[in-house]
Amino acid sequence: MPAPIHLSPLQFRALGHGMIDWIADYLEGVEARSVSPSVRPGDIAAMLPADPPARGEDWGAILADIDRVVMPGITHWQSPNFFGYFPANGSYPAILGDLLSAGLGVNGMMWATSPAATEIETRVMDWLGRMVGLPESFLSEPREGAKVAESGLRGGGVIQATASEATLVALVAARARIMRASGTRERLDEKESNLLMYASNQAHSSVVKAAKIAGIGEKTGTGEHRCVRQIDVDADFAMNPEQLATAIDTARDQGHIPFFVVATVGTTGSTAIDRLDKLGPICRERNLWLHVDAAMAGAACICPEHRWMLHGIEHADSFSFNPHKWMLTNFDCAAMWTRDRASVIDALAIAPEYLRNPASESGAAIDYRDWQIPLGRRMRALKLWFVLRHYGVEGLQAYIREHMRIAGLFEEWVRADERFEVAAPRSITLICFRLRPRPGEIAEQTDARNKALLGAINATGRAFLSHTVLPIGGGDSPQRFVLRMAIGGARTQERHVRAAWSLISGLAHNA
Ligand code: PLP
Repeated sequence: MPAPIHLSPLQFRALGHGMIDWIADYLEGVEARSVSPSVRPGDIAAMLPADPPARGEDWGAILADIDRVVMPGITHWQSPNFFGYFPANGSYPAILGDLLSAGLGVNGMMWATSPAATEIETRVMDWLGRMVGLPESFLSEPREGAKVAESGLRGGGVIQATASEATLVALVAARARIMRASGTRERLDEKESNLLMYASNQAHSSVVKAAKIAGIGEKTGTGEHRCVRQIDVDADFAMNPEQLATAIDTARDQGHIPFFVVATVGTTGSTAIDRLDKLGPICRERNLWLHVDAAMAGAACICPEHRWMLHGIEHADSFSFNPHKWMLTNFDCAAMWTRDRASVIDALAIAPEYLRNPASESGAAIDYRDWQIPLGRRMRALKLWFVLRHYGVEGLQAYIREHMRIAGLFEEWVRADERFEVAAPRSITLICFRLRPRPGEIAEQTDARNKALLGAINATGRAFLSHTVLPIGGGDSPQRFVLRMAIGGARTQERHVRAAWSLISGLAHNA
């Protein structure tokens, strides 16, 4: 008799309960672990055989390898002492949502392939849009009587996997729109190498990557994408609006076709806020698609006192932020809205015979496959739905406010220590700071001391920070090395931030 292939339901229950216990133990104890692992490239792979198992293995052996193989190579992003990059939030409600999504195992590519997957996502994205203060024109079901886009456009929200994908989707939608506007597709195809897009020199690298993937514009011998024009920033690292307007007008005069602008609300380097109220009218008047990337900072807008960051959002064509960064929803969950769903669908819809169905053809249902890059999609809305229902708006506001409070404390401590300086204005919970230049020290020496300090902090395993370079002074000032203290871990409390500061200031004695 052949060996049974599947686990029995009984075995699954036992293993599943054990796995939940393991996760709960891990998360409750993660604080005590060294934040980053001490392995070299290849160490983990060396513990795995070169060939797959010919016969199914015993679950005892599989589970033992979690501790033996996996854990030595894990960076503990869920540690309250993880302050690198931006956080990767997680929570028990979100984990349960992900588990349920795996259990249901649906592919919600179209309404017809699982109506609940689509309709829950649509409703939850409308909730979330309202929570961050988006105009109703971005929502799938705007409230009756609300002033919706004057031009008859229809909006809506969708969950993408990442902010990078949201930017790419916005880019191709913008291209579809400009193609429609400029007459026949053929005519524009000839000119396509003339398309130009804009972002500040502080925008995330995913903007250039989107251009590479979309294949727009020319590429220089050095691989630089000339179709992406980088606009200088002011001393606060936000895009200079006048320079954007001039760049667009000059390019137009030279026969180029400017079509797309990415504004960043909360840049990766320093969480600088590009001014939508200034950039928006520039884009509107010139008919450029404005995409707003608020990957980390968007979550702060759940609190009315932080919504100033989105002042002018009514001028944007699309907006996205990552609940997987700072809104307690496990990776991956990038929330994206557009005011112009028709352009997104125009760019991405393809309807092969094998996917045709009456619901799609009726036009009464949303098919999210036409709003994203892949065809298939799992039911990510479940985890977002669970998070919103478990914490409620007030719970999430309290979460954001507490991190804002402790980030303020950290900034005060840095400012009070004359060996350090704060290197960028703090808009949310990221503090960019560095050791001050010593009298007579050249800039490279200051950078080297700061690099060494970062290395020393991370080598302790008691905290993990990352770095960036910033053009301190704005414009085309030289790039200087700064440490980034990104607060926002799901378990991070004041005591962790206090301990991190005491570690940093102690190590600075030798830096
Ligand atoms: N945009 C900004 C401003 C970011 O900070 C990041 C990542 O930190 C991204 C985009 C990319 O995010 P994702 O990994 O979701 O593509």
